[in-house]
Amino acid sequence: MALRVAALEQLLTDKGYCDPDTIDRLVELYETRVGPHHGARVVAEAWSDSAFHEHLLANASQAMSGLGISGMQGENMVVVENTGDVHNVVVCTLCSCYPWPVLGLPPRWYKSEPYRARVVREPRTVLAEMGCHVANDVEIRVWDSSADLRYMVLPRRPAGSDELSREELAGLVTRDGMIGVALV
Ligand code: FE
Repeated sequence: MALRVAALEQLLTDKGYCDPDTIDRLVELYETRVGPHHGARVVAEAWSDSAFHEHLLANASQAMSGLGISGMQGENMVVVENTGDVHNVVVCTLCSCYPWPVLGLPPRWYKSEPYRARVVREPRTVLAEMGCHVANDVEIRVWDSSADLRYMVLPRRPAGSDELSREELAGLVTRDGMIGVALV
């Protein structure tokens, strides 16, 4: 795969379709600077500010760009909220579509065939196997991301976190919690 990618990059560069410096800059950006800490900031803001919370659920990409978070693979993001009655989990059944500006690059398991196939058919079992035990009376909704529309989960705010600052709240939020395969 690495050789094929290198050959493809060389060909595109030779034909003048892309600039290797641009590719290096993008790789560096997503490997070191863009990641789940952005999503955690969005979640902490939603837990702290009811107007932002409402805006986030109505138009996630627009609300996030108000925090300076936007970019490639995040043009049309939708946030789905966990409640006492509903637990949400995200997949891309076709490939690996994922909201890069808030979560960075997808983990390997997210792209794997077993996760993509099974989380749709038996979400409760798959979640339990990943250590995420959703109570039987809580409905599980599975959201299928695509190139046009990418989902992120807004986890439930933990009990006893009323006094925490936004930074402290953000520290509680995990990448897996925003995919919906873990509880916060
Ligand atoms: Fe995909």
